[in-house]
Amino acid sequence: MKVNSQVFRAYDIRGIVNEELSDELVKKLGKAIGTLLRRNNSDALNVCRDGRLSSPHISELFTEGVLSTGCNVYNLDLGPTPLLYFSTFKTSIRNGVMITGSHNPKNYNGFKIVVNQKPLSGESITEIKNLIENEDFICGEGKEQKTPLLENYQTEIKSKINLKRTLKIVLDCGNGAGGLVAPKLFKDLGIELIELYGEVDGNFPNHHPDPSNPENLKDLIVKVRENKAHLGIALDGDADRLGVVDNKGNIIFPDQYMSLIADQILKNNSGRKIVFDVKCSSRLKESISKSKGVPIMTRTGHSFIKEEILKQNAILGGEMSGHIFFNDDWYGFDDGIYSALRLIEIIAQSEDSSAEMFSKFPQLFTTPEINLHTTDERKFEIIKKLKKEFEFNDYEKVLIDGIRIENEESWGLARASNTSPSLVFRFEGESKEALKKIIAVFQKALFTIDDKLEIKLN
Ligand SMILES: [Zn+2]
Repeated sequence: MKVNSQVFRAYDIRGIVNEELSDELVKKLGKAIGTLLRRNNSDALNVCRDGRLSSPHISELFTEGVLSTGCNVYNLDLGPTPLLYFSTFKTSIRNGVMITGSHNPKNYNGFKIVVNQKPLSGESITEIKNLIENEDFICGEGKEQKTPLLENYQTEIKSKINLKRTLKIVLDCGNGAGGLVAPKLFKDLGIELIELYGEVDGNFPNHHPDPSNPENLKDLIVKVRENKAHLGIALDGDADRLGVVDNKGNIIFPDQYMSLIADQILKNNSGRKIVFDVKCSSRLKESISKSKGVPIMTRTGHSFIKEEILKQNAILGGEMSGHIFFNDDWYGFDDGIYSALRLIEIIAQSEDSSAEMFSKFPQLFTTPEINLHTTDERKFEIIKKLKKEFEFNDYEKVLIDGIRIENEESWGLARASNTSPSLVFRFEGESKEALKKIIAVFQKALFTIDDKLEIKLN
């Protein structure tokens, strides 16, 4: 079987249902993963699915494939992605597959794969692809068993969170799988909850379940202001990412709320490492150092961050996209629900408003992520040429993911997207002028490479 290599990405498997993700491919994916596990002396897998319309069908076909290799399936049923990760720590089965399209449009679906409590590496994803192409599958007869874990997940989070005062919080689950757990959990913890779009609905009738796009935070902002809430929280479609709005209705980006979280955690853990991706503000790096932590910058991608946390034994990790990983009193996986409650716990410890607390970590002049459409082949070629263009300039260079150049007053990043045929840019400066200057440096270099390449600012 020839498979579309677009479906097999840097760290997960994803595509349009029925087109890229055909029934045949889904079933063979089950066979391939079952085969991979059995050849690695493992014979069981936890499977969970999000609330997308296509997820029950995909889960069934995938499970059929896995069982046909003699690998057993423990079915967690409907739940958020963190529940799947949780299951690999709380049951004897350390492997898991989450069927989720995360924050993608409703016609998408995909697979997040965990083997031995770790995200599947790019190498293993290629191996799965090869198994499918060669139809190289083991035969056997596995058994399926229901494994409800939602209660345990909620109970454990409840036992770990302690809120010093009652806060009024607006929570927008975006009709994603987080709605199954988060609203109840928030109320049980004594939060005065104003709920938005808590029903799980794969049609996503209200807005797209992606809190990294400010467009999707509009309703949350209105509700926070209307109700004079202390904080607004938004989860993505599978609740592994977190969006935050302060009491005034300002969007607080992940690199800013991470500074606050890092500062709190480091109070009792000075000298510990904190991992974040190349898209984050230089202010985050500075504030981690100032709070007596060790900042570690890494590649973008939730799997890369998780790997780095393990490798460095970091206490916290986070990504500009809103994946936050607590590794002090949690298991080092990205969990939007748990992370939201940890942030709420920090806010509740102070009499200050959330806006006041975040303002201790002010943002510089910054651009959002800017995408420049190209092709999958060209994106790498352009990055290579950019590195050459920048070789002899005076900026400090960071080459862990594309190229990031920095000086005292600004930084700029260009990298190849992991998930789409595009280049991703981000810029930041101490002043408007510094911001303009760094963008111009990149624009000039791009122009030298190809005069049609243009960074378009909104
Ligand atoms: Zn997600």
